[in-house]
Amino acid sequence: MTQPILLATCLLAAAPAAAQGAGGPQGDPARTEVWKPVPATVATPRDGAPSDAVVLFGGKDLSAWEAEQGGEARWAVADGAFTVVPGSKGIRTKQRFCDIQLHVEWRTPTETRGFDGQQRGNSGIFLQEVYELQVLDSYDNPTYSNGQAASIYKQAIPLVNASRAPGQWQVYDVIWKAPRFSEGGGLVSPARITVLHNGVLVQNDTVVSGRTEYIGAPSYPPHGCAPIVLQDHDAKVSFRNIWVREL
Ligand code: MG
Repeated sequence: MTQPILLATCLLAAAPAAAQGAGGPQGDPARTEVWKPVPATVATPRDGAPSDAVVLFGGKDLSAWEAEQGGEARWAVADGAFTVVPGSKGIRTKQRFCDIQLHVEWRTPTETRGFDGQQRGNSGIFLQEVYELQVLDSYDNPTYSNGQAASIYKQAIPLVNASRAPGQWQVYDVIWKAPRFSEGGGLVSPARITVLHNGVLVQNDTVVSGRTEYIGAPSYPPHGCAPIVLQDHDAKVSFRNIWVREL
């Protein structure tokens, strides 16, 4: 007794599909399917870097880094992280990068007494050596807005303050588009940066005005691909789980 009802249901369900088929008024859906190229497969472990990333620090050593002035990177490695040794100067990647996706985890010191504003947990991630994404303890620590955590230092204020308390691990996920220069050295297109701070969008395709300057206006002397530099600003900021994907 149920068979006629089933048949009627099937016919009703099939009707719309037939109308959109090869002979239907809206044409063949396969005409807008694109099968090539097939994106490469990337393994994405829950903890750690994607399979196609360059691991800059996996928890053991600073072999991917060197001192900013050349020679061995002498920051302190312990417990799967490394920490600024104040006064030792910055460190930079041995490899040079242009357009990248960058993942960095960082932590500012729990001891904050006597340290305010720019003196509290200051470090920085310099893309292509000269463009600083600020690292700072900006948890209940007022400073100039274009110098707080997740600012493009002295250039771009973050959309929100997504800072965690000192002593907690924080995350930057960065999309960096390098500036382009003409053969004559003129600026063709400025750098652009997107940053997620602890998963929250804080820089949204921000146009970078030029190399970071402490005093005065930024400018754009021409350059090529360059290392990533981590800043020694006299604070014992720690880093871990750093990887980069070249775009
Ligand atoms: Mg800094």
